[in-house]
Amino acid sequence: MIITLEKSATEKQVQDIKDALSTYGGTVTKVNTQGGFYLVAVGGKEFDIRVIGGLDGVKDVHYVRDPYQLVSRQWKVKPTAIDLGDGVLIGADEHQVMAGPCSIEGEAQVRASVAHLVSVGARIMRGGVFKPRSSPYSFRGLGLEGLKMWSDIAHENGIKIVTEVLDASQIEMIYPYVDMYQVGARNSQNFTLLDALGRVDKPVLLKRGMSGTLEELLQSAEYIFSNGNEKILLCERGIRTFEKAYRNVLDLNAVPYLKDKSHLPVVVDPSHGVGVRKYVAQMALAGVVAGADATLLEVHEKPEQAKSDAAQTLSFDEATRVIKQIRELKF
Ligand code: PEP
Ligand code: MN
Repeated sequence: MIITLEKSATEKQVQDIKDALSTYGGTVTKVNTQGGFYLVAVGGKEFDIRVIGGLDGVKDVHYVRDPYQLVSRQWKVKPTAIDLGDGVLIGADEHQVMAGPCSIEGEAQVRASVAHLVSVGARIMRGGVFKPRSSPYSFRGLGLEGLKMWSDIAHENGIKIVTEVLDASQIEMIYPYVDMYQVGARNSQNFTLLDALGRVDKPVLLKRGMSGTLEELLQSAEYIFSNGNEKILLCERGIRTFEKAYRNVLDLNAVPYLKDKSHLPVVVDPSHGVGVRKYVAQMALAGVVAGADATLLEVHEKPEQAKSDAAQTLSFDEATRVIKQIRELKF
């Protein structure tokens, strides 16, 4: 059950609401976010919500039967749009493309990528500076110095940036330079990281775990929201199955499912999702048809020379083509 409180609700009123919930039992948690104040009640008995609806300090009250609450669409039917500022919205009318290299590798690469994005009118650049790699001997990213360089160049050119945060200890350090944090597939259930990202006010792109169910993804999003940050995007990036023909299986069923179950915007990452350059464009278009609000693409000036994920990275020309096709498709 979600009780949305009036912004002006006093402590006394909140206590009266909690008292009225005593017959419900379960757990009642107060959640304060940038967007509002809520009481989230779970695990109790059947309860007539009209008892709560008329109390002072209550804006509205909804029964939510999902195992997740605040990210559920059962109380917030209208989809949420995430505002990155300067007219860059995800989950509104325009389909957004977040394109860029798997890893930030150096200034020349960043300048070329930014110029490419500007030339196609894309507003968000992706790139990793802290890279989660299967092998500790692989390229691990340029770190904070690389991020500062990238952030300067991107912002000078009106481009927003999204980068992966590997650990809660990095959140504050990178805060001034990023527009959106990315939680990678390997951290999709890192609950201390999710808790900590709930305490910042910048958007979080939350990827699905490689073997994570959609319910687990939504529960992970609930961690962020219930800690105070409503600005969350859900990302389908492919899951591991018995199929070995390509890197992952891009589960596009997830798109209509997540849009139905949650009010949060949905992003599709066909680059990691299929993992094979020549199939990425088709799967990107399929994601748009499935209803994605944004597409994440790995793009590099010289894809075969990319320091990570070369096999799935598009060239500038390939990216330009698919971005144009996405815009034609958007209906
Ligand atoms: C990435 O976006 O480069 C990345 C590491 O993604 P994922 O966490 O989906 O593997
Ligand atoms: Mn990658």
